[in-house]
Amino acid sequence: MCLGIVRDVRTVGRNGTLRYEPKELTLEQMQLISDLYDVGDLKKTVRKISIERVPGSPGHSKVRDYIRDSLVDLRWKVEFDIFTEEVPILGSVTFHNIIARHNPHAKRILMLGCHYDSKYFKEFKFEGATDSAVSCALLLNMARALHGEILRNEIGLMLVFFDGEEAIQKWSNKDSLYGARHLAEVWEKEGILDRIDLFLLLDLIGAKDLTFNSLIPRTHNWFQRLVQLEDQLIKTGILKTNRTIFKFITGSDPKDDHIPFAKRQVPVIHLIAADYPAFWHLPEDVEENVDYNTTEQVGLVLKMFVMEYLLSAPTFKPHYVSSNSNGADVLKNYLPLLLGICGLILVLIYRKLNMYRK
Ligand SMILES: [Zn+2]
Repeated sequence: MCLGIVRDVRTVGRNGTLRYEPKELTLEQMQLISDLYDVGDLKKTVRKISIERVPGSPGHSKVRDYIRDSLVDLRWKVEFDIFTEEVPILGSVTFHNIIARHNPHAKRILMLGCHYDSKYFKEFKFEGATDSAVSCALLLNMARALHGEILRNEIGLMLVFFDGEEAIQKWSNKDSLYGARHLAEVWEKEGILDRIDLFLLLDLIGAKDLTFNSLIPRTHNWFQRLVQLEDQLIKTGILKTNRTIFKFITGSDPKDDHIPFAKRQVPVIHLIAADYPAFWHLPEDVEENVDYNTTEQVGLVLKMFVMEYLLSAPTFKPHYVSSNSNGADVLKNYLPLLLGICGLILVLIYRKLNMYRK
């Protein structure tokens, strides 16, 4: 079903009472963000992740280290949520969700996620390029491109790389979404779910014929903003194409890592291919079959969405810092203010001295 214009007030957060209307980016800001894009980096990153990475395998730990190191290099705070579970075929497996925060002290969180494990197949090595190496690469590429552009204010960006999304044997409530189920449960107890404004989940991205539909009624109006942004990027010529990927059409929502979060009332935008790639769960889901024009287009729209969201956030208030931060963090946050005060004092002293000289 094609949707008309949704005019509801855009709200965020679990209880849905927090109203948020980000300020639209100017054409100059859009151009600047688009210029930060580096297709070479995206391709390189997909190649690094698009290897067999079944939980507990050497490829899995290689990719896990790569994701962690990439974000630590950008000075993000990276943590693991580690737990062990009995699974079919593989026995006891230790899973690692990767959680990276740009601004760990932010009161509110914009969360983007994808899964980094690959599905186990006995008969062949499965690379899972679109499932979901490309999604992970898009998140890392976004972190690199926006490095230096994201401000530390009251809304922080968080990237979550889920482990164990895939069923090991046959999809069921118990054999699937291992990482997402664990993390949502832990975060509910810790109160972190209450801080999540919105959760964008990426999956099955990278095929040439990709389109996204608006799958969750609660976030239709947020999905609509993605449609508008893509439209603006095409009309201004920043995107050199006429083909839209974000379609304001409803569809049935496939089970994925967002389920344990949506069940707990976290607002979710599920960005998954409306038609699964033709090589879904087949040996042909390899990096060589990734369409980078489509992938770049998704990346650009997402960067615009994230920048618009974060740039409109209320400015950082120091009392959020003081509760759980170390001295270095406090110094970093107060340094501009201290330097400003020192500068002012020096100017006043200089003026006073000059007065006496006259
Ligand atoms: Zn899959």
